[in-house]
Amino acid sequence: MKLEKATGIILKKHIIQEKDVIIDVIIQTTDHVYLRKKFIVYGILKSKKRSSVIVEIGNMVELNYYDKKEREIQTIKEINLINRYYELKDNYDKLVFLSILLELCNYASIADSHTIQDIYILLLSGLNYLQNFYKNDESLKEILVLLNQMNLSFKEIFLLFFSVRLLKISGYVGDLSKCSSCNNKIKEKAKWQEGLYFYCKECDPTSNMIDFFYLKILENITENKFNNFINNFIFLIQQSNIKKEEFLNVFHALENKINHYLKEVFPLNEKINLLQS
Ligand SMILES: [Zn+2]
Repeated sequence: MKLEKATGIILKKHIIQEKDVIIDVIIQTTDHVYLRKKFIVYGILKSKKRSSVIVEIGNMVELNYYDKKEREIQTIKEINLINRYYELKDNYDKLVFLSILLELCNYASIADSHTIQDIYILLLSGLNYLQNFYKNDESLKEILVLLNQMNLSFKEIFLLFFSVRLLKISGYVGDLSKCSSCNNKIKEKAKWQEGLYFYCKECDPTSNMIDFFYLKILENITENKFNNFINNFIFLIQQSNIKKEEFLNVFHALENKINHYLKEVFPLNEKINLLQS
């Protein structure tokens, strides 16, 4: 039986017999292989030497484990905490938000093992971003005031961004720069087709400005880092011809579409309403 080393992020945990914990983790091995694995940590909840904080969801951990190919659950020899991301857990709302991000990554990584590396990188940068944001980030101060004026929360914008990125990683987002029918660049008006595909005004006479606005938001998400996206997002709202009193309805319709689509492609828990946090 080989002893392996890896670092990973805990997505889920289950308590067994009040003393052992089974964790679902996406890991990066020392050979830079990305995997999703189940581990059992024996006795952690009754241990006097090790704190049970180590097996919290959202933790970044270092693992030494025995790998037996034919076994579904591997045994941990040693587990050490690298980052607890405490700033993401210090109140109930934040904890709920974190568990939604982890749940999404959990289902996306079950659905397709080839995308685990990209999911790992997305999740790690998301956790690091949020940690900085909650700690001390002043760079979004003005943006947050603007979002607030539009009755939008930072969390829902972040979650929309994260969800669309995850859908893109899993191969569910088409090339948003072009019409999915004729391949020409889409200008002024668009028509949202099934899934995340759009037609131009020549290919679909029902093309409209709202769908074009959605297209621009989605394109912005797939092409930019979060801070750039959110700046562009505010600019897009200001440039669009959507009336202020109409805007929230338009935006919630986008959230609902993405929410619906997430549930269609990932086997998510029905109770989770991803974009209404
Ligand atoms: Zn077209």
